[in-house]
Amino acid sequence: MPDLQLPTAEQLGVRPSTLVRRGLLLQCPACGQRGVISGWFGILDRCPTCDLRIERIEGHWIGSFGLNVVVCFTATFLVLLTATLLSVPDIRPLPIIIAAVVPAALGPVLFAPGSRTTWVAIDLLMRPLTPGEIDPRFVKVDPRRDRPTKPQA
Ligand SMILES: [Zn+2]
Repeated sequence: MPDLQLPTAEQLGVRPSTLVRRGLLLQCPACGQRGVISGWFGILDRCPTCDLRIERIEGHWIGSFGLNVVVCFTATFLVLLTATLLSVPDIRPLPIIIAAVVPAALGPVLFAPGSRTTWVAIDLLMRPLTPGEIDPRFVKVDPRRDRPTKPQA
């Protein structure tokens, strides 16, 4: 049995960067429509437009949590580094710590919805769509449906 998997971006007929951009903009990575976010901290089970299954595996949410942590730690580090470098040679720790509280405390809350939709996009890039995960009308190239025909002898 040949491997019938195709990268998700190829199945959907978009570039991989498009999937990530849509995720960062709180859109469904597959179809680009809004409305997959439920409240500030929630996300729907399926996209109302393309029926993409959002929680693709058990514990899918832990990836968005990890992404949120990495982004906010990086932002906090960059603020600390920048504030420190700007205050050289007269380094006073209190203003630097206060500046770092903003990305450290508010970042995880502000990035919560974006981390969820962006993680869906990253997951789609890592694991190709399988049958039943999305409305087939949104799939441009289905490896099972659109098998290359054998050249005629
Ligand atoms: Zn969708």
